[in-house]
Amino acid sequence: MKVFKFGGASVKDATGVRNVANVLTRFPQDDLLIVVSAMGKTTNALEEVATAHAEGRDAKALLEALRAAHFGVLNEAAPGDAAAASALDLSFRDVLRMLATRSSGDVDEDYDQIVSLGEVWSTLIVTAHLRAAGMKADWVDARDVVLTDELFRAARIDWESSSANAATRLRSFLTAKPTRIVTQGFIGRTADGRTTTLGREGSDFSAAIFAYLLDAESVTIWKDVPGMFNADPKRFPDTRLLSHISYREAIELSYFGASVIHPRTLQPLQKKHIPLYVRSFIDPDAPGSTIDDRSENDSLIPSFIVKPKQLLISITPRDLSFIVEENLSGIFWLFAQRNVRIDLMQNSAVAFSVAVEDTRRSRELIEELRKAYEVRYNEGCELVTVRHFDEPTLSALTQGKEVLIEQRSRNTARFVLK
Ligand code: ASP
Ligand code: MG
Repeated sequence: MKVFKFGGASVKDATGVRNVANVLTRFPQDDLLIVVSAMGKTTNALEEVATAHAEGRDAKALLEALRAAHFGVLNEAAPGDAAAASALDLSFRDVLRMLATRSSGDVDEDYDQIVSLGEVWSTLIVTAHLRAAGMKADWVDARDVVLTDELFRAARIDWESSSANAATRLRSFLTAKPTRIVTQGFIGRTADGRTTTLGREGSDFSAAIFAYLLDAESVTIWKDVPGMFNADPKRFPDTRLLSHISYREAIELSYFGASVIHPRTLQPLQKKHIPLYVRSFIDPDAPGSTIDDRSENDSLIPSFIVKPKQLLISITPRDLSFIVEENLSGIFWLFAQRNVRIDLMQNSAVAFSVAVEDTRRSRELIEELRKAYEVRYNEGCELVTVRHFDEPTLSALTQGKEVLIEQRSRNTARFVLK
């Protein structure tokens, strides 16, 4: 079994949906489980619907636009498929009814019931198209397999129950040869049947979950870029493809902020030694990137990860008493409580400095900290991480910039620059 994942950009319109079928024709003999995200920017649009619902505003017009767009793609990609049209129609009617009548009293729970539908719609359309193109395809509701806890919007997987579900719910589809299962990324279900989501951009993680549950031979993420690069081509000239890196390196890169792969994706794959391929759906002949247990190529190419829009905050006790453990634990607690992620930290005798993303939450945190500490901050900074650096690269990078913090370990150099 191979698991394929197609993201929102790959199915943003009928041309994209047709291209999914083209990619699949290259694998006529393979058993495939195909995880699909919501089309294009659907999830963002559904978030607006959820917000409108939460604020008591009418979301019908927003939903009508989504309905028109999805039917437009269905009619192009699978004209005359009455069963698919009625399944899609039914789902839209369900949301309308839900918006009119239902609130669980928990905004996050309501959010998940609404926002999860983008994946349901896209998979109905992709399945219909594959069938129209003469391929076999079985639509599976991911929620029948992926069981989670009740942490809506960031649900955690119940691996044991999900594994039991995979064995029972997928059995009949798995005996069909070759297997062609189409299912949703991003969504799951609680033990009592309520839909959950796994966090934005969670479809990569879903692909890894299915691969883990089915002991797949590999996962391929089909993207609009030819693989993982050592830097963002929009920012750096001469970027290079990382053709082969280890799980460990990929986890480090995504931890520091590389956005190609969702960080949680790699752990389940690493546990079962399932390789991850990142390949281009635009150029499926290109070799792409391989992420697996081997690590011999990791240190050959310096990688750059840039986090813009950072605040560098410096926290000092008012009486200049040393920043000791009690202070630090109180400070950390405030960050955790307000869900502000620390991207970098450094301490001196009397000050503790952190770099965080500049958001409303971090601004509020500053005000909170000011009750007990002297707090200063620098805005408009960027945090640059360089893995496998060499001196010429670092001096080129920092030239003409003010370096506010510099940290180095053997493999990694980090800078807060302004
Ligand atoms: N559709 C979801 C999102 O946009 C999940 C995903 O694309 O991975 O966040
Ligand atoms: Mg998406």
